[in-house]
Amino acid sequence: MSAGGQSQAMFFRARAARQAGDVGLRRTLQKARPLFVGKRAKGIAGLAADGLGFGALRTACADIRRRVVDDLDVWLEIFEERARATGAEVLWARDGAEIRRHVLDIAARHGVTKAVKSKSMLSEEAGLNEALADAGIRPVETDLGEYIVQLAGEAPSHIIAPAVHKTIHEVEALFAAEHGRPLQARSSADIPAMAREAREVLRQHFLSADMGISGANFLIAETGSAALVTNEGNGRMVTTLPSVHVVITGIEKIVPTLEDFASLMRLLPRSATGQTISNYVSLLTGTRGAGDGEGPEKTVFILVDNGRAALAGSDFADMLRCIRCGACMNHCPVYFSLGGHAYGWVYPGPMGSVLTPLYTGIENALDLPHASTGCNQCGVVCPVEIPLPALMHRLREVQVERRLRPLAERLGLGAWGWLARRPTLYRLVVRLAARYLRWLADDSGRIRVFGLAPGWSAGRDLVPPSGPTFLERYAARKKD
Ligand code: SF4
Repeated sequence: MSAGGQSQAMFFRARAARQAGDVGLRRTLQKARPLFVGKRAKGIAGLAADGLGFGALRTACADIRRRVVDDLDVWLEIFEERARATGAEVLWARDGAEIRRHVLDIAARHGVTKAVKSKSMLSEEAGLNEALADAGIRPVETDLGEYIVQLAGEAPSHIIAPAVHKTIHEVEALFAAEHGRPLQARSSADIPAMAREAREVLRQHFLSADMGISGANFLIAETGSAALVTNEGNGRMVTTLPSVHVVITGIEKIVPTLEDFASLMRLLPRSATGQTISNYVSLLTGTRGAGDGEGPEKTVFILVDNGRAALAGSDFADMLRCIRCGACMNHCPVYFSLGGHAYGWVYPGPMGSVLTPLYTGIENALDLPHASTGCNQCGVVCPVEIPLPALMHRLREVQVERRLRPLAERLGLGAWGWLARRPTLYRLVVRLAARYLRWLADDSGRIRVFGLAPGWSAGRDLVPPSGPTFLERYAARKKD
């Protein structure tokens, strides 16, 4: 886990303020949001046409994931045994430092100078690209979105659309600089040509790389395989062309059987991109056998804890069911107002607001569980029934229990609690406060700047309370 990631997550408010002020970014994000939402809605509606109910399928998928999380150690042992039987090596990593050490050891043993990568968020958790570059190994991201953000020197801003924050003109400037050609005027009609250009450059990297590094959407315990789900052919190139393939994935990604995997696949692509099935669904098992035309000579699984084992059996175990579909962020008004970089670590949106504090330390990401409007859209769309708003509430409770909230907030809530236990005094104070707020209003009937909440009232007017207080109305109704 990168220390930089921890410190970045601490500065959510500052990052959020900067991102919210970036009009171009907001325009780009606002254009993308209806596409994600509309495609998912269509995909889910298609389930009904197939004679399936989203609710029943969602419960079945959540149950599969619950079964795994309840007996994680058992399924991991089965996976390890089956994967070894297919000729793969299985290594375990407690944290980012162990991931880096394993990958660099493997690279040194095989004389690796270039590594092509696809779909590995764990390598983001570990800061692996920096470690590879420091060791003289060139890491090349090959998902189109990841390739774009790597050229920009940025982190992904979305888990399934890493460059969703970039305009076509920004991408054109990056391609012109990297590919050594003059800048061209571009419109959305040029997107296929730009994708083809990137593909041609990446093809040379696939052919010259000594190592492929990928993540896995799922690990199948019964066959010892990794399942990789992508929409670009790069995942297959990364996992089959280089002589060494390293799969880096979290221990929670396991599913018991191929049938369970098939069930989850009915919801994963639909929730992510609205597709019935992704373009490429690969089951990667063992190494290249005699007579196989392709495949790596060496396959290594690095199964990573990095804070996951501690969640099993805790109040936050539900989060281990996550299948990284991105639906929660696609429906989140906070995410689409700020973009993923505001969240400061690998996972943005509602799932990041829960995962980042749990993986980097609750005290290192105090604002993230508060980055929510409480609308519960994330909880409604999650295909594995993760109660994201409830988990954010629980994280807020833990902050209070561990006295991590700012002193002013603790004093304020303490004073309110003291007052609320004294109803007569409470009624009097509320009446006086309501009159004071009415007195603060200007000629337009609004409060422009409210001293006790300057940050909140700097961007919006406050409407003063009108008429009797709630308690006064309640008392009057009781008399009637
Ligand atoms: S929390 Fe749910 S909706 Fe969000 S990425 Fe994970 S599985 Fe998808």
